[in-house]
Amino acid sequence: DEILWAEGLEVIRKLVLSGHQAYLVGGCVRDKFMGRRLNDIDIATSAKPDEVVDLFARTVPTGVKHGTVTVLENGRSFEVTTFRQEFGYSDSRRPDEVAFVLDVREDLARRDFTMNAMAVGLDGEVVDPFGGREDMQAGVVRCVGEAFERFSEDALRMLRAIRFAAEFDFTLLPEVKQAIIKHRSKLRQVAIERVSVEWDKMMAGSGPEQACHYLLKSGLLTNLKEPLPAGFQTVAEQYRFNELPWEWDITFSGIGSLENDLLYLPLIADPDLRWAALFAGMGLSEKDSMEICGIFRISGRRTTRIAGVVGMSEQLTAFEEHSLEYKEQWIRLVLAYGRTIAEDWLELNESCKATRLEESSWLEEMPAASISELDVRGDELSRLLDKSPGPWIAELLERLLEEVALGCLPNDKGSLLATAKSTIGNRES
Ligand code: ATP
Ligand code: MG
Repeated sequence: DEILWAEGLEVIRKLVLSGHQAYLVGGCVRDKFMGRRLNDIDIATSAKPDEVVDLFARTVPTGVKHGTVTVLENGRSFEVTTFRQEFGYSDSRRPDEVAFVLDVREDLARRDFTMNAMAVGLDGEVVDPFGGREDMQAGVVRCVGEAFERFSEDALRMLRAIRFAAEFDFTLLPEVKQAIIKHRSKLRQVAIERVSVEWDKMMAGSGPEQACHYLLKSGLLTNLKEPLPAGFQTVAEQYRFNELPWEWDITFSGIGSLENDLLYLPLIADPDLRWAALFAGMGLSEKDSMEICGIFRISGRRTTRIAGVVGMSEQLTAFEEHSLEYKEQWIRLVLAYGRTIAEDWLELNESCKATRLEESSWLEEMPAASISELDVRGDELSRLLDKSPGPWIAELLERLLEEVALGCLPNDKGSLLATAKSTIGNRES
């Protein structure tokens, strides 16, 4: 971290020695002041993109039109952006025009929040024209300028306000909340990919429960460009009207309530399992979860995990815990979803309950959780029963697996073959 910061300063030094102004800016300055881990280093400079390209050996023209060049040094990348102003947000998401300027303060003025609008120079000089340090000290999220105006320019900032409030456990100023309520429908103009990046960061961050609470309370989630499934909308609306609309603190509404489920999110380490816990807490189906993941362009790999865990939870709700039927159903679900999803389900539920669950030993004691773990192979069945291979083999193996998994049949070749023989014999007679 110290190294990353120092390397950022080296990039600045090179720019300054060539007669330009240059500063570390944005998130890294904010995180440095708060003693947090730095993600990436952003640099703002008076140098024009082509001057930046000429100055460094390895660069990538990331967004030259908007002034951004990525500089590669010591195997790291630094985003170097020319001081700029932005004009005309006719569509509430992207500036119609940018203009390069010469003063870092003008560049800071286009940024979203006071804590994100600070710069640090080579000699450690801090440029903080909007009182970012003071606001961080007080723990408040304040817009640079008028919240109403800034959210109407770029509606994504409403989500970012919530992200930073939740992440740092800061307060959203009343004017920020009011501006969110006023402009929430403008979120419909923002590309779903940008929304997805922000919400995903919130889920992986340190205040996922607060973030989800704000997102639901504000009504932002029912104002997306692509509407989420009806199941989601219903629960979201209900959550929003449950309490007075200006009540933005999570209040404990009893076990089994969504508020209560949200409070468990930080106990779960894996962000994808947090997603699953949110969907399961909202009572969503596996299908709805898959649809939501699709809308948010979440990868197929992650979707399988998230929706699988939700599916297991969904199919267990009808069963009374600790009943015999529950155990049987749980084992069948392990067979249906596979060992890894079952382990994910366990991780989620054990994190929330902070204890080992008996399902954990059921999984350990399962002699086989998939056909490949059976002590017999398809070709052996085919030979023994003297039948040519066909779909019957997979069907029979599934049946044997179920009996083995439920503990009704030992997982050894002799027993498996004997059962196979009698099953097929019964069927054919
Ligand atoms: P993170 O730690 O998540 O990267 P960040 O503050 O660095 O947070 P980025 O999206 O990387 O967020 O943006 C870098 C900087 O650019 C911000 O600190 C802010 O100054 C500015 N910025 C980003 N998005 C916006 C926006 N929508 N409107 C105004 N300024 C923005
Ligand atoms: Mg950043």
